[in-house]
Amino acid sequence: MGQSKKDLRNQQQKKNKELGIVTKQQKAPNTTTCCKLCKLELRTTKRNVELVTHQTSKHPSSSMAECFPGEEYEKA
Ligand SMILES: [Zn+2]
Repeated sequence: MGQSKKDLRNQQQKKNKELGIVTKQQKAPNTTTCCKLCKLELRTTKRNVELVTHQTSKHPSSSMAECFPGEEYEKA
């Protein structure tokens, strides 16, 4: 009786466990940025919608560059 692929995989996982190898995937860390004006920490995303929302609601008289210099964002 041969071993199935599942058996082989379980065997490999068991071996890895014994060797102390952790195979679970690591999540990408969340990156945050601080508003330069009020020091509030906000999560940066691909389009940084949260940053734009923060700037337009909290600091409408300041620019995005003043709140979050160097951050890329999608212009509304
Ligand atoms: Zn702010």
